[in-house]
Amino acid sequence: MNAPLRLRLDSAALVANWRALDAMSGRAACGAAIKADGYGLGARGVAERLAAAGCRDFFVATWAEAMALRDLDLPLAVFHGVRAEDMAAAAAGVARPVLNTPMQIARWREAGGGPCDVMVDTGMNRLGVAPEDIGGGLLDGLDIVTLMSHLACADEDTAMNARQRDAFAALAGRTGAARMSLANSSGIALGADYAFDLTRPGLALYGGRQRDEHRGIAQVVTPEAQVIQRRCVPAGGVVGYNATWRAPADTEIAILNLGYADGYFRGFSGTGIARVGDVVLPVLGRVSMDMIAIGVDAAPRLAEGDWVALDYDLPAASAASGMAQYELLTCLGARFDRCWL
Ligand SMILES: *Cc1c(COP(=O)(O)O)cnc(C)c1O
Repeated sequence: MNAPLRLRLDSAALVANWRALDAMSGRAACGAAIKADGYGLGARGVAERLAAAGCRDFFVATWAEAMALRDLDLPLAVFHGVRAEDMAAAAAGVARPVLNTPMQIARWREAGGGPCDVMVDTGMNRLGVAPEDIGGGLLDGLDIVTLMSHLACADEDTAMNARQRDAFAALAGRTGAARMSLANSSGIALGADYAFDLTRPGLALYGGRQRDEHRGIAQVVTPEAQVIQRRCVPAGGVVGYNATWRAPADTEIAILNLGYADGYFRGFSGTGIARVGDVVLPVLGRVSMDMIAIGVDAAPRLAEGDWVALDYDLPAASAASGMAQYELLTCLGARFDRCWL
């Protein structure tokens, strides 16, 4: 059965974004972060398309995410490393762990080792081993495919970026790692000296743009929802919870099958825009859990069952809703049909 709400997903835009980021990565290979179900688009659909385009490095956060993609036989790494209960999946070769702590490293060694990645912390103080511990021999003898670190502020121009880059570059040749990887989407835009051997974009693959250098990145995701009901609100009538919108004149509205439970956040109340073709239809009043109201005076023929698209250019939608571009993607809910075009 078709759902009354769907995500229109643009395959050509996804692949073009990966190619653009690959080109920006220079001589470095370009991978793809597909954690959080491919940032809400569906990890399987994303991975199939990018693998066909030539992407050879995929990243998820957890082993459950890796297991769900097992049949695709992807070159996959798990950012959060290995817990004891992950070791069976890791031993089965479902993915490589990205080892983050001395305990994870000890666990990996005790199980016999094998190819792994290692995360080193260069100042974000999130995940990763300390550079000083590397000097102390923590990684000696490990079969490290990729030594990684992660940038805290790549979407800003701040001295911290170069500090992290230099701290990471200082580890070259000190671990036996076959390659090094630092840059996320925004890090790729910081220049060739941030690319090392492999880049790991996520957000920009899916249409996110946090820096001017990403101006060529294309929108991939468009939410669409069906009209449940159309009605006329008489002048002075109100719409939605807490009656925050009052009709200045008789106004035609439509109620759409989409709400904050689907990731269409309350921040779009009174700021979101729907469209039929080029006709702009404003979101009126509060976003409900499963519904929104839009003004449809400009679309006289729009009827029950018709589909409406929501504006979802990520920088603009972020400004309109107050949500991060990351949240706008990763909170897109399970009730959408995901339709790749
Ligand atoms: C999520 C993640 C990425 C991708 O980051 P974007 O900002 O979405 O490009 C890269 N590396 C690590 C370690 C991550 O956790």
